[in-house]
This record gives sequence, C-alpha cells and structure tokens, in this order.
Amino acid sequence: MCQTEKLGFQLAKAFGCVLCFKSKAQVIKTPARRIWQRGKRSMKYYLGIDLGGTNIAVGVLDENYQFVAKHSVPTLRQREASEIVRDMADAAKTALGMADLKQEEIEWVGIGAPSTINPIKKNIIFANNLRWKDYDLISAFREHFDAPVFLANDADCAALGEALAGEAKAYDSSVLITLGTGIGGGVILNKKIYSGGNGFGCEPGHTTIKYDGEMCSCGRRGCLEAYASVTALIRDTIRAMAGDPGSVMHALCEHDMRKVNGRTAFDAARQGDATARQVVDNYINYLAVGIANFSIFFRPQAFIIGGGISNEGDYLLEPLRRRVKELDLYSEKIVPQPAILKASLGNDAGIIGAAFIGGAL
Ligand SMILES: [Zn+2]
Repeated sequence: MCQTEKLGFQLAKAFGCVLCFKSKAQVIKTPARRIWQRGKRSMKYYLGIDLGGTNIAVGVLDENYQFVAKHSVPTLRQREASEIVRDMADAAKTALGMADLKQEEIEWVGIGAPSTINPIKKNIIFANNLRWKDYDLISAFREHFDAPVFLANDADCAALGEALAGEAKAYDSSVLITLGTGIGGGVILNKKIYSGGNGFGCEPGHTTIKYDGEMCSCGRRGCLEAYASVTALIRDTIRAMAGDPGSVMHALCEHDMRKVNGRTAFDAARQGDATARQVVDNYINYLAVGIANFSIFFRPQAFIIGGGISNEGDYLLEPLRRRVKELDLYSEKIVPQPAILKASLGNDAGIIGAAFIGGAL
C-alpha cells in the first residue's frame, strides 16, 4: 500500500468519510462505507494471499471481488519457511485490521503459491523459488491464523482472478498465458480451476511446439516456453543482432548486448527495422502455434495474455489473432474463434484468484 492509500484509510477512520480511494484498478472502500453496506445487506468477505518470491501480497475482498484492503510485505525468501509463514499470517492480520474485520468474519483464506501442489495431501510438493519441498503450508499457516485455508498454484490463481474479475469475466471458459521470464498459465472451465484428473495442474509453457527444438528450462526441447518467453525473445533478439550489425536494435541497447530486453525487438520493429520485424514475426508465429494448439484442444472462449510482453498491446495481439485463426484447422467456418485479450488486473489477479479458490477448486 502506498502512503496515499494509508492516509486515505486514516482520514476515513478519523472522519467517517464515505469516499472511495482508488488503488490501481480496484476501488478500496473505507470502513465507513463498508459499515453502511453491512447495514444494507450482509456482505461476505474473503482473504487472498499471493505468495511470491519477492513479495507476500494480501488482499481482503468482498463478495463482488472488490478490494476492501490491500497490504504487502517482502518475502525475504532465503529465510526459514516458518518465518515466512509467520509474516504471511501477520500480513493477513494487518489487512484484516485495515478492513476492520475479525478472523471469524471472513469465509476463508486462500493462498496462491509458486509451486506444484499435491491435491491429495493439500501440501506443497516443490517450490523452486522458495526451496520448499513437501511442505504442509496450510497447517503451518493455521498455527497463526484461525480460519479455513485453501491452497493452489499461483498461476492458477491468476487465471481465476482474470476469470472472475478481469478480462475473462464474460466467459465461462478461459486460458491465461503469462509471457514472463518463463511461461505460466492456467485453465478455467466453468469458472473453476481445471487441474486435470489427478489434480496436478496444467503447464501450458511446457507443451512441445517444435520437435527437438531449443532447450527449455525444464530439461526438454522445443517447449512453448523455449520460444515465447521473454528469455527466449531476448535470445532470439541477440542472435538476430549478431547477424545484422546495421540493425537499429544495436543503438536501442547502446551497443551493449547485456542491455537487450523483451522490448528491444518490438521497439525496433515499430521503427521499421526489418531484422527486428523478423524477430517479432517469428515470436508471434511460435506463440500462435501454442495458442492454436490449446484452442483446438480445450476450445476455451477466451485467451488472456499476461506478463511483460503483453504490454506490447495490439502490436502483439492483432497479428497474433490473425495467425491463430489461420492455424486453426476448422477456423470460424465451423467453430467460433476464441477472443485473445490482454490481461487487465496485473499483479492483483493472483490475490483476487487466491481469495476465491475456496469456491473454485
Ligand atoms: Zn519446458
């Protein structure tokens, strides 16, 4: 929470103000407004925690998916798991205090964790970022916090958040694809997380789109992540620059290859650089192959594209839509094509989704 938001809460408490204070895309309601709403109708509240490698982000939301309070603290992930869990519980209590709610007044706590979840034991099998293995996070959290607790993968939570309150809210079925350092994502069917028959979840980034292709972080070759992640885009940008000393891309990164990032090729392509345009076209083609595969198999109504590269907006999405349509065997002659939209909730998607996993697992 920024200083302005803190001040907003303090003013609201002091003067009973019924104004709303905006935070990013969400409206945070002041205690006075919420009490007024309580009198009007009985509102249900939910607490979501997005446990990231950098921050523990907590939100209290009402049943309309609106933030009532938001709070975040650093994860400091090198620490013992027990210390991190204690901070998660403290952050949750702080957020509840900001929302003027007690633990027994919320329906449940949902935690989104960057890990593979064991659906039978309901614990963490492995969290690479946190170096947790076979960890019973729910029991550990409940030592500090008295409420029902649910646990899900963080990418699934983000997919659910977009499906409930973001760009996919008009659709019953959607797939989130997050184009970041790796490729994350989740599948939502009928507004519930689809985790497969054994419950271990979907990994869209590690489906093969090119046999014996580029090496992927998972140890296999040819995965979508090895072609459409930021990491892959940077690799392909550097290769293309090495083959074209006259490319605008050299000037954009001040003739220092270490400064190449996920925007370099897109920025140069916008300036008319042919080599950069080729890098972008190749990138979009590979991403389109992955999305067309998911489309033909799952037939979702919408794909939501998140992560850093999604900020390229229509410059990415318009050719991507055309290419997916061309690749879909049946095209719209038989099957309606899915909407392909930019994610709208940013980091809040993970908090919102986490808060509502109790009804969506
Ligand atoms: Zn892979």
